[in-house]
Amino acid sequence: MDIEEAVKIIQGNNDFVLTTHLNPDGDALGSLMGLGLALLKSGKKVSMVLPYPVLASYQFLPGCQHVLQPSDVLGRFDVGIILDCTEMARAGEKAQDVIENTRCLVNVDHHISNQYFGDLNVVDPQAAATGEIVCSLLVRAGITITPDIATNLYVALVTDTGSFQHQNTTAKCLRTAAYLLDCGAKHNLIHQCLYEQKSLDSLRLLSRCLESLALNKSGAIAWMTISQDVLLDSGAVFDDSDGMIDYTKSLKGVEVGILFKEVSPGEIKVSFRSKNYLDVNQLAACFGGGGHERAAGCTVQGRIKNVEALVIEKTEELLAASCGGPKR
Ligand code: AMP
Ligand code: MN
Ligand code: MN
Repeated sequence: MDIEEAVKIIQGNNDFVLTTHLNPDGDALGSLMGLGLALLKSGKKVSMVLPYPVLASYQFLPGCQHVLQPSDVLGRFDVGIILDCTEMARAGEKAQDVIENTRCLVNVDHHISNQYFGDLNVVDPQAAATGEIVCSLLVRAGITITPDIATNLYVALVTDTGSFQHQNTTAKCLRTAAYLLDCGAKHNLIHQCLYEQKSLDSLRLLSRCLESLALNKSGAIAWMTISQDVLLDSGAVFDDSDGMIDYTKSLKGVEVGILFKEVSPGEIKVSFRSKNYLDVNQLAACFGGGGHERAAGCTVQGRIKNVEALVIEKTEELLAASCGGPKR
């Protein structure tokens, strides 16, 4: 991991463009705006670019007002920094055009499936979130972390660790979180904005989603499905399903949880989570996706029932082959 090189690039340049992956989650947005605000505070010229507006549920993040559309930015930048993104294509075509038109591209990420596509790759699969790497970068670069920057980076950590519950919650992650609280991250505000502002429609969707829960014969695989019909019926949007997959894993005896979402007719987004031993990054890779060992995803084309059958068959196969077996 070339973190010292990245520090030099940050210190030695003045003209930056930053972006992250499509459908950005808390880590993507927190890392983007945490780093963006820090560079701005250091007196640098910074454009934070996203192809779509920031989701309403994340608009409490300080720095949202600085986010630009790719069509708002012109010319060539000295340095492009892409955050939390496994491969260039996941930035989306328009942001990709902007980020590729730079003299130096820095790829900052923590996915094990990262494709090392930057001129410089600061990739640390041990990091709980990309926000954790950004925090190290800022500390090493001697940039003061203001309460606004800390709030963004804390959101990155909270969301990617499932509120410090997932296996990626390391001592370093918790030390980083504590440091960010010391820097002024607003824990109460963050918790309420992320978890206590749900719409009634989103809870209706949760109830429909739980109704769809199914288990394989051995009870090691649990899955749920959200079809277009169910989504429309509930009045919710797909972003409201964030975190619902965790209910599959909450069942005793389940090793792998899967959520199928029919994002458009014939296009199924599949999310995977595992509890102890199945490498779901490898499972998602069988369908052209990726992620981490315990959380990964992919998009599969086909009818929802067919995709379910295909994916569950593959999951059974990998489970049977996983020589590690349950670790106790
Ligand atoms: P999700 O199920 O969308 O919450 O994603 C779980 C993890 O897998 C996240 O870290 C995502 O960035 C990653 N991921 C999801 N879908 C893909 C994909 N198609 N390709 C690569 N990584 C993915
Ligand atoms: Mn992400
Ligand atoms: Mn992440």
